[in-house]
Amino acid sequence: MKTITTTVVFDLDDTLYPEKDFVISGFMAVDEWVCAHLGIKGFFQQAQEAFEQGIRGTIFNTVLDKLAANRYNQLTINEMIKIYRNHFPKIQLATDAEEILKNLKGKKNLAIITDGDLSTQKNKGKALDLENKIDLVVYTDAYGRENWKPSKLPYEKVMDHFHVKGSECVYIGDNPSKDFKGANELGWLTVRLRRPQSLHRLIEAPSPEFAPKLEINSLSLVDWGNCFWSPKSVPPPPLRKRGNCAKGNF
Ligand SMILES: [Mg+2]
Repeated sequence: MKTITTTVVFDLDDTLYPEKDFVISGFMAVDEWVCAHLGIKGFFQQAQEAFEQGIRGTIFNTVLDKLAANRYNQLTINEMIKIYRNHFPKIQLATDAEEILKNLKGKKNLAIITDGDLSTQKNKGKALDLENKIDLVVYTDAYGRENWKPSKLPYEKVMDHFHVKGSECVYIGDNPSKDFKGANELGWLTVRLRRPQSLHRLIEAPSPEFAPKLEINSLSLVDWGNCFWSPKSVPPPPLRKRGNCAKGNF
């Protein structure tokens, strides 16, 4: 017996567009503010370098320490965070994502489940014109921090909205620390997209319940034309070598 996949659901950041592009766009917005309000030049370049060096969570402090010595305080940092989170981002869908969404529109139920600050994620949605490309976007922050992935709730929202069973759904995401656990518990097919440039490409699932059932490195490698998954042809376990891919047949 074959289970037809009726509902294709994506993560957003680093699945449908490169998350690094949002980071760069945010640094540019903050750079403008820092230049205009603090009279300091060079923020963007320093922030980009800090990001490339792997600094996370303290980039604004690190860069201002370098550029401004004692000329800032926590209120300055808070304002910069606000600018970063609320700016309207210059981002674009990845080429394969654009193509897949166009091909599947009207043929499958299409949804996104995305974590992150609500206004930030909504701005990304507007910048990518998701309203016209996707049937349903579940912003998990709208249900409280406790319902961000790996909570099951956002996946249940999708099933309720489309009146479908878990066995009809597939979730495609990039981050095994949170993307697949809730979906696995509800019987969804889970697919990890490990793009060569993605920020979480080196992270592995912390335990088997967090692991995806399939792994790919491009959306173009999925056999979308035969979008079904047969229990008789259970895909092999995720490949772990970088650069490899498993062809999805569901
Ligand atoms: Mg992601």
